[in-house]
Amino acid sequence: MAAGATGARIVFFGSHKQPSYVVETCNVPSRDLLKDGEILIKILISTICSSDIVSIDGKRELKPPCVLGHEGVGEVVYTKRLQNGLPSVSAGDRVVFTMCDNCGSCIMCKSEMQECCLSKNRYGSSGLSAGTGLNGCFATHVVLKKGTEVVKVPMNVPDIVASPANCALSTMVHAVNFATSNSKLKQSVAIIQGANLMGLYGCALLHEAGFVKVFCHDISRERLRLVPRFGGIPVLVEKDYDSGNNQNIEEGKADVVIDVCGNWDVIPYALHALCHRGIYVFVGTTYEENKSINIDTILNKCITIRGIQGYKSIHLQNAIDFLSKTANKYPYESLISSPFPLQDFHSAVVLARTKRYYRTAVKPQQLSTE
Ligand SMILES: [Zn+2]
Ligand SMILES: [Zn+2]
Repeated sequence: MAAGATGARIVFFGSHKQPSYVVETCNVPSRDLLKDGEILIKILISTICSSDIVSIDGKRELKPPCVLGHEGVGEVVYTKRLQNGLPSVSAGDRVVFTMCDNCGSCIMCKSEMQECCLSKNRYGSSGLSAGTGLNGCFATHVVLKKGTEVVKVPMNVPDIVASPANCALSTMVHAVNFATSNSKLKQSVAIIQGANLMGLYGCALLHEAGFVKVFCHDISRERLRLVPRFGGIPVLVEKDYDSGNNQNIEEGKADVVIDVCGNWDVIPYALHALCHRGIYVFVGTTYEENKSINIDTILNKCITIRGIQGYKSIHLQNAIDFLSKTANKYPYESLISSPFPLQDFHSAVVLARTKRYYRTAVKPQQLSTE
């Protein structure tokens, strides 16, 4: 690609601006303009995460103007990254990447807690002035910075299946790894609270990890529809979900509970259902309400409670390996819409808001429907 090649990106100006985002053309840097360690990729498919909608609605702190989108799969165009003196990836490789660029020098990075890197450089939320301005996935290209890990995508994992791997799936891999490696007793019964994308991935991950029963609870019959196809047992719960009411697990029978729903009202039931030395993991969501909980139950049952935000690069590798291993077993493609061209990003956002699919896809290399 020659210097000054042209790409396109969705630039978000802020929820209060009219329009709040536009499609604009932009320069794509030539190889000479990349810094050491950087990789230029062209985005093949990106997916709209629920947190992108939260950003568009102005409910998340951002520094617009910026390019949104952190979930995507791309093809390497140029690389200036070496590993043991050799390029770590080559032009044409299909890759996914960690959604945060780790600084490598903060106390968290140095303590092998990269998922908590204090620099908070995240694709899809850094301003246009940060680096090349190609730092979000709703664009034809992204420049991956030096501290961003890349993982090659095997042939049997389609673009549309790989795209959300660097967000929902990697985060669930992190949560399930924690639960299974810290559960000292048997691992036979798990409950996932919430049948969103993380919930469905969690069903498959726990099922493959050997859990005999993986219950998935939700208040929406529609969201529960695909649970059995991902190895879970769907449980429709009442809105006023509380301890002992309308549940199918006796007290103390669950070894692990993973909460992905962000509703405080589910917490007392989880504490009721967990066994002695059970593990309760809260994953990547926010709680609008904060009420008190019964600490006695946690103490008496010696329950471990852990919050999970983000993941390490090994979890992204595990996520891609998991997709490759189970590609023919679970209907991953049914979770994601057909892709929209970049020019029609607004229609993609409209569909994403309906939650008809677990993710709505965008195909940035296709600029229009023609
Ligand atoms: Zn996401
Ligand atoms: Zn750091």
